[in-house]
Amino acid sequence: MSDTSVTNRFLELFYQLSQIPRESGKEKRFADFLEEFAKENNLECYRDKSNNVLIKKAGNKKNNEPIILQAHMDMVCVKKENSNHDFDTDPIEIVRNGDMISAKDTSLGADQGIGLAIMLLILESNKIKHPDLECLFTTEEETTFHGAENFDYSKLKGKRLINIDHAKDDSIVIGCDADICNQYIFEGNYITTNMPSYKITISGVEGGNSGWEIKRSSKNAIFIMAKIIQKLQAEKDVYICQISGGNSENDIATSCECIIKTDIKDIENKIKNNIEEKHIDIQIDGVDSEMSFSSEDSKKIIEEIINLKQGLITKKNNIITSGNLGKIETINNKIVITGILRSIEENELQEQNNENKHISKNNNFKTEEVYKDLAWIPNKNSKLKETYTNMYYQVNGEYPGFEITHGGLECSCIAQRITGLDMISIGSIIEDFHTVNERMYVSSCEKTIKTLLAFLEYENNHIKG
Ligand SMILES: [Zn+2]
Repeated sequence: MSDTSVTNRFLELFYQLSQIPRESGKEKRFADFLEEFAKENNLECYRDKSNNVLIKKAGNKKNNEPIILQAHMDMVCVKKENSNHDFDTDPIEIVRNGDMISAKDTSLGADQGIGLAIMLLILESNKIKHPDLECLFTTEEETTFHGAENFDYSKLKGKRLINIDHAKDDSIVIGCDADICNQYIFEGNYITTNMPSYKITISGVEGGNSGWEIKRSSKNAIFIMAKIIQKLQAEKDVYICQISGGNSENDIATSCECIIKTDIKDIENKIKNNIEEKHIDIQIDGVDSEMSFSSEDSKKIIEEIINLKQGLITKKNNIITSGNLGKIETINNKIVITGILRSIEENELQEQNNENKHISKNNNFKTEEVYKDLAWIPNKNSKLKETYTNMYYQVNGEYPGFEITHGGLECSCIAQRITGLDMISIGSIIEDFHTVNERMYVSSCEKTIKTLLAFLEYENNHIKG
């Protein structure tokens, strides 16, 4: 198989799978597609209740140690404000511009459509040489990790796993941070006040994955909103009626909306003249709203948002601890903030978590843990890393970098569930993933595929017997 025909087939597969909606938690149709794919190619297939799919393919020689390839099938679904795209029914519209591929008005799903297409490419091919393969397609990676958490790993024989969910092609991931996701919940009393109400809307804040774009994370839309309200509070009483913004704890909030009551005059100019962030959109509209939290409670809510840890918290000996407040909602008389803390140092993580709990207690918020992932600690004696690195050098003429990633990967979850597992994570360049500007590059995918295929062929050649 020539390099171009491999690339072309990869792109066809990527295009084909982009036709199937696959938002997190709604992977049923994609799992159907995978089952169908396995059937057409006469491959052994297993699907579980969480819609995880495992497809096995025998290698070219008998009696060998299988390699597990793994990627998540779900994608983050975001679209431009004026887009009518329906993620439940519509295919992603792929736009190719030379080497670059993006989507029209939506996220692309290169994260991790690339990994999916690579696995399908290998599974359907009768030319690629490889040992026994166990291809695991997981669900709900972008939200809860429920797929990877619920899979029955006794279905796998392999003890070596290559996760395809990295967003760079010049490094290999060998470890991953632990994280804690919490909800901070405030329950207050609604009161009536006779004052004008305003809806403040912030949008157009630069987003992205909070583990990767730590710097951006401290300037998220929820935080910017809190700063605006705080300035108003310094002048006169402000009563928050409701506040909402962001999509998930992992993503940097790009928009936030807050309804307040206040008798501050000329509020629009006061807000707009005071704002430090330039390239964002702010809109202030007069609205009708009756009930609000008290002025005291409103102060607590704003202090909570401002004081909880966001962005880069500490950096000691290259160990980064970070936080992100990804989502805020008002549900009746409750304010719910969802945030995440990340670090490879469990102690540091616990310390910051305790501080957040302490801050919350002072602001009358209660803290509820949503989930917690342990770290994937790098294995110094990884044979898989060594072999893959050597093949990387042979194919690309240079060595890859090694990374302990700050963004969550299913690897940390899988590492806890397979004893003696040797694991790396690879990928190709994906820029601005989890945003409408998500982009991938054909040449980068080509590089990753070439390296992976060379590795599989090498493994196949070195099977004894
Ligand atoms: Zn991903």
